[in-house]
Amino acid sequence: MVFTRDLRVRDNQALVAAASGGPVIPLFVVDESLGAAAASPNRVTFLRQSLSDLDESVRSAGAGLVLRRGRWVDEVLTMARLGAATSIHVADDVSSFATTRLARLEHEARSMGVVVVRHPGTVVVPPGSISPSSGGEYKVFSPYHRRWLGTPWRPVVARPERLEHVPGVDVGSLDELLPARTGAPGLIHGGEGAALARLDTWASSSLHAYADLHDDLARAATSQLSPYLHFGCLSPLEVAVRLRDRVGGSQFVRQICWRDFFHQILAVRPDAARADYRHRGDRWLDDDESLAAWKDGRTGYPVVDAGMRQLATEGFMHNRARMIVASFLTKDLALDWRHGARHFMEHLVDADVANNQLNWQWVAGTGTDSNPHRIFNPTTQGRRFDPGGAYIRRHVPELAAVSGSMIHDPTLDVRRAHGYVAPLVDHHEAIAAYRARKRTS
Ligand SMILES: Cc1cc2nc3c(=O)[nH]c(=O)nc-3n(C[C@H](O)[C@H](O)[C@H](O)COP(=O)(O)OP(=O)(O)OC[C@H]3O[C@@H](n4cnc5c(N)ncnc54)[C@H](O)[C@@H]3O)c2cc1C
Repeated sequence: MVFTRDLRVRDNQALVAAASGGPVIPLFVVDESLGAAAASPNRVTFLRQSLSDLDESVRSAGAGLVLRRGRWVDEVLTMARLGAATSIHVADDVSSFATTRLARLEHEARSMGVVVVRHPGTVVVPPGSISPSSGGEYKVFSPYHRRWLGTPWRPVVARPERLEHVPGVDVGSLDELLPARTGAPGLIHGGEGAALARLDTWASSSLHAYADLHDDLARAATSQLSPYLHFGCLSPLEVAVRLRDRVGGSQFVRQICWRDFFHQILAVRPDAARADYRHRGDRWLDDDESLAAWKDGRTGYPVVDAGMRQLATEGFMHNRARMIVASFLTKDLALDWRHGARHFMEHLVDADVANNQLNWQWVAGTGTDSNPHRIFNPTTQGRRFDPGGAYIRRHVPELAAVSGSMIHDPTLDVRRAHGYVAPLVDHHEAIAAYRARKRTS
């Protein structure tokens, strides 16, 4: 059984199938070819915590988690040989990295007489199991959502009671194979145990108000389950089944559907991780200084800076803030969405190729948004979604003492008095220039 981003024992079909076939080697391989993507301190920290938690769970069922580091396919096959395996069970996935790796494993395992079985588990409805009558992927969310809701979901499977271990396999040391890194100070704690605790607490305290409060920046009333869903500490199917019929559940489960929606796009269009999903002839500017100011939260737009600094201190950012900062980068600064997506991939603990790149494209206007010319005015957005300014005060200490609505658009004198930067660009001029460039491209 090879864990990838399904780091849980509950509703893990691959694990259940492996356990039902006899002795199991529960394996996780730190894939060296992931390179920089795997080196994000926030995600390494979260991953280490998730693997420790998983080790405890599989140990309590009878078999310790076996850890290896190296070339993923080679390590999996070495372990299959050692355990004289007849089958390898693994969760299916959609990124080109994951599918290429899985295809290579299948190819090489076949020549050893070993079967690789891919199982559903990373999304609620597997990509490809629903598709439009014209073929390909659903390009628009609403019809996908309708179809998704009307499709029977597979049953949630129980955790295996007992795992029969294969004797004589060295389990490996997490400290040696995945050395600790220093994550962001406010980073959420990883692992299935922490995920279930958060799910329970949040669902009982906040789910009922999700529809009203999910855009409220200061209240931070969303679930913050995204890192657990990304690493598979939680089964998206189990979460959706548990919450769908509760007050607030349908609105929340709709968001889980967005996650599936982007995964089914990436499955068909893996190039959307790098290239425009819908090419619109954008001409991006080259401006390293503006990019650096955006990354550091020094744009002079309080809500943009608050979002970017939340990312730096927590490895997380509220969804509304993600939309505002992404719009600011691509529309006000006219910088390529790929710069922003790369920065998010480095810092977000929930960074996920499908959700990140396709949300960036949605905001940039190259993705699935039916209104690709949408503009977010950062000052208006701040007033609307952080009316009291508490989100800004929390993350931009220079402005903590600025009272009232002045916080959303401080005068130059107020900025100077509080040591806060002047706006990097004038929003209206920047958008006029953006539109003019669009007209001539
Ligand atoms: C520019 C940009 C980049 C983003 N990058 C990522 C990313 O790398 N990883 C990631 O998981 N999400 C990403 N999102 C989507 C969204 O911002 C996060 O999923 C959400 O903020 C996570 O917080 P939450 O768990 O409290 O969300 P909740 O509001 O509690 O939603 C529950 C779950 O639904 C899913 N979800 C919610 N909104 C979206 C969405 N717009 N698209 C896809 N799934 C969604 C997530 O899995 C989330 O955990 C991005 C959004 C934008 C605008």
